Amino acid sequence: MKAFKPHVAALPSYPYAHHQAPIKLDQNENPYDLPEPLKAEIVRAIEATPFNRYPEMDAEGLAKAIAEFEGWPVEGVAVAPGSNVLLTALAQAATRVLDLVPSFSLYKWAAEIAGTPWEGIALGPEFELPATELEAKLEDAGPGVFFFPNPHAPTGRFWGPEITASLAAAAERGGWVMVVDEAYYQFAPADFKKEARERPHVVLSRTFSKAWGLAGLRVGYFLGDPALIREVKKLLPPFRVASPSLIAAKLALEHPGYMTEAVEKIRRERERVYLELVGHPNWKPFKSHANFLCIRTPDAEAAFKGLLARGVLVRRIDSQPGLEGCIRVTIGTPVENDAFLKAAFELGGSDATRAD
Ligand code: PMP
Repeated sequence: MKAFKPHVAALPSYPYAHHQAPIKLDQNENPYDLPEPLKAEIVRAIEATPFNRYPEMDAEGLAKAIAEFEGWPVEGVAVAPGSNVLLTALAQAATRVLDLVPSFSLYKWAAEIAGTPWEGIALGPEFELPATELEAKLEDAGPGVFFFPNPHAPTGRFWGPEITASLAAAAERGGWVMVVDEAYYQFAPADFKKEARERPHVVLSRTFSKAWGLAGLRVGYFLGDPALIREVKKLLPPFRVASPSLIAAKLALEHPGYMTEAVEKIRRERERVYLELVGHPNWKPFKSHANFLCIRTPDAEAAFKGLLARGVLVRRIDSQPGLEGCIRVTIGTPVENDAFLKAAFELGGSDATRAD
């Protein structure tokens, strides 16, 4: 491995282990595939597209459709095969990264790959934002890139536009670029778009993987100030989004009704699953504004294995500080959620997951 920079040997792999189960609630995917007529329209459009030709260099056509959908200048849109790619590029280019602990693990992983100095500020015991500490850090320790997922991953906590705006103001004073990662904004009470428009150092990160149900096709985008987006685009490989993905995302934007319908169903189910879990003898669900729930159990490994043995795959998230005992379950269809709840309550009575 002498061919690689010395820090590479010490890098961790991305923290994801593949498991098979009939009920898959481990990746915050939309449980609903696209409506059949829309999927058929996409397939027909893909069929008519030559596979021997490269797609557009910067996904210009889709960027234009996103700009129209979002009411954002097209020069302020950057498209990539998943928002992961955009977030990774920023972490690599940053002079330093400021993060929350816990948080979406990609930010730290991407910073470490690039050798970017990384610092994380701990959330409170119920994942409260340490606003004073964060604002002081933003004012004194910059400049750099500050990653702020809202709704927060992997807890589902949501902070309103007011607190986000006061963090953004501190970030501006300290010279930070603030990335508000809105991968789950459709499931939350508000987003930060109106406020971001007036703040050239704020970038919104959005994706087609969750509410839009296109995780398999890998499309995500940034909305930001044109000058900042120009810099971001320099970091991205050319011709990066495959033609089928561009076609699918563009047609999805023309039929947003299926997305809002799925979001409604998922939000309703999220509240139902949460309320049922509140009655669990020894698991504690946290209120969520995303399409998943973070649940504290007495033993994450036992909970994970017990659920898997009952055919339900969830995600262990207990390796991050502050998430001891926690698992994360994606909100699925009502039938999937019932299966999860049944398994959860069966486990509640077993010795393996009893609190004491
Ligand atoms: N941000 C957050 C907070 C996420 O949870 C995820 C998906 N796990 C992403 C970004 C990445 O989404 P994608 O690369 O599929 O656009």
